[in-house]
Amino acid sequence: MLASGGASAIIARRIPLSMNIGLFGGTFDPVHKGHLAVARAAAERFQLGKIYFIPASMPPHRQEERITAFHDRYAMLALATVGEKGFLPSLAEAPAEQDHLSFTIDTVRRFKQAAGRSDHLFFIIGIDAFMQVANWHRSEDLLREIDFIVVSRPGFSMADVADALPKSLRPPPAVVKAFRKSPAKGTLALRNTMIHILDEVKSAVSATQVRRAASGGKSLARFVEPLVAEYIKKMGLYKAGGRRQQAGQKH
Ligand code: ATP
Repeated sequence: MLASGGASAIIARRIPLSMNIGLFGGTFDPVHKGHLAVARAAAERFQLGKIYFIPASMPPHRQEERITAFHDRYAMLALATVGEKGFLPSLAEAPAEQDHLSFTIDTVRRFKQAAGRSDHLFFIIGIDAFMQVANWHRSEDLLREIDFIVVSRPGFSMADVADALPKSLRPPPAVVKAFRKSPAKGTLALRNTMIHILDEVKSAVSATQVRRAASGGKSLARFVEPLVAEYIKKMGLYKAGGRRQQAGQKH
């Protein structure tokens, strides 16, 4: 006869457990401590068992700029996440993985197909990027396809979040007006979409800051993980003329 602990261990092995999974998209040029703070806060609040960091080949708002090569951004993600079991660098939008431009909705659908039937997926994004969501390819479908975790920053209201939605998904004007004075917080529950606001991340680090510090030869210790700082130094990234442009990806 099995002791109760043994039986429950066997049952636990047979029944696949559902998992909450985060998809964190960004340029990650480079990944920094702000990104890791976002991932940790999201993992804790939404019980995320895994978070995939998905570097974009090239987001549309950066097409005029020079972006570091995909393989360098991916390598830095691998180094930054090496100590966190549930944080995984993803090649889902790697240039070699696609023979055409990849949209966020395609990436999300590919992850959903690969996930277990009872797994729950969340798309993690900063509020600055979320402000453009209505312009993304098939944004209404995307918002219906996956719940969003939007990382807020001071100064944004719940009305800003509602205003950013494609027109057809926006709550009625009277509701939006009532949100005008409430800071972005809590959850905006729409008919087929949930937008959760994560307001506990207080990191002010940005990739722009890291690139500036690196090009000025300053210490990166405050901004990035030690292995990432070493990689930037070793590969000479972010020096004048050191950044290369990539072929495109679109939201
Ligand atoms: P850049 O300075 O080049 O614009 P970034 O630091 O915003 O870059 P991204 O790769 O564009 O880095 O960020 C991916 C996502 O993470 C974006 O949606 C962004 O808004 C969010 N994000 C980045 N840094 C922070 C931070 N310190 N706190 C909260 N969200 C952040």
